[in-house]
Amino acid sequence: MAELLKGAPVVAAMNEKASADVLALKEKGVHATLAIVRVGEKPDDIAYEQGATKRCEKVGVGVRHVTLPQDATQATLQEALRKLNSDSGVHGVLLLRPLPAQMNDNEVCNTLAPEKDIDGITDASLAGVFAGIETGYPPCTAQACMEILEYYGVDPKGKRATVVGRSLVVGKPLSMMLLQKHATVTICHTRTVDLPSVCREAEILTISAGRKARGFTAEYFSPGQVVLDVGIYVDENGKMCGDVDFEAAETMVGSVTPVPGGVGTVTTSVLVKHVVEAAQKQTQ
Ligand code: NAP
Repeated sequence: MAELLKGAPVVAAMNEKASADVLALKEKGVHATLAIVRVGEKPDDIAYEQGATKRCEKVGVGVRHVTLPQDATQATLQEALRKLNSDSGVHGVLLLRPLPAQMNDNEVCNTLAPEKDIDGITDASLAGVFAGIETGYPPCTAQACMEILEYYGVDPKGKRATVVGRSLVVGKPLSMMLLQKHATVTICHTRTVDLPSVCREAEILTISAGRKARGFTAEYFSPGQVVLDVGIYVDENGKMCGDVDFEAAETMVGSVTPVPGGVGTVTTSVLVKHVVEAAQKQTQ
């Protein structure tokens, strides 16, 4: 049976470090603070906001909530972001997306100052990920995958890593982060020919496809692999699951992240970690 790469111990270790860092900042008179910007009342956004708020409060990070109506103009949202950029009491900003249709996502995201872009949504942050320099922060989900590998002692160096998915939120930045750690990376997408065999060849396999619950079945796996399942779905029975057919994977691969309780759990802790790092940098 595969080893379960649970998120909980990773989160516990990250929380312990964040709590200590928050205290050290407080001794210098700085209260690390996250602003969460939400447009509209989408239940998914509200749930994510509540989860992030709870995780911040647990380690002593402050949270400010900025909420705009669904019909807010792009100019109003950009003005709110500019205010947060120049507010020295806010160290990181989480903008909940997707934005309403009347807004240009790229223009809005790039209004945010890269030093407060704790979820890697600005071009500057992403350029930093690709160049291997710290201009902003990598997207939290991609970083969560790297945190899990590090916690469980999986060194990507020299390994064949296959990344399924090429979104800017997960697949592309994760590929670059694995490359930075000296993995030999293959990036896959819907036009990849014979995806099962490309996946089977991987020593580290990350899957963020998001199109079909449990769509990655036994033919995609091989013995000994480390599998990170990024996908999130609620199935027809109201049960949460991932891209991976977990029952097939766990009898075959070396280790696998569960859903729920895997990558998603760690993502919010990465968010908190980035806020603390942003506060440290802005205080120096
Ligand atoms: P996305 O923007 O829709 O991108 C999905 C990517 O997967 C695309 O590049 C697509 O290829 C590729 N893909 C889809 N089906 C495929 C298939 N059958 N074979 C090969 N490639 C396939 O999605 P995303 O934002 O990256 O999110 C992906 C999943 O991760 C979703 O389930 C989402 O809910 C989840 N997610 C989880 C977290 C977390 O914290 N755990 C955070 C963010 C997202 P093409 O480019 O060719 O279309």
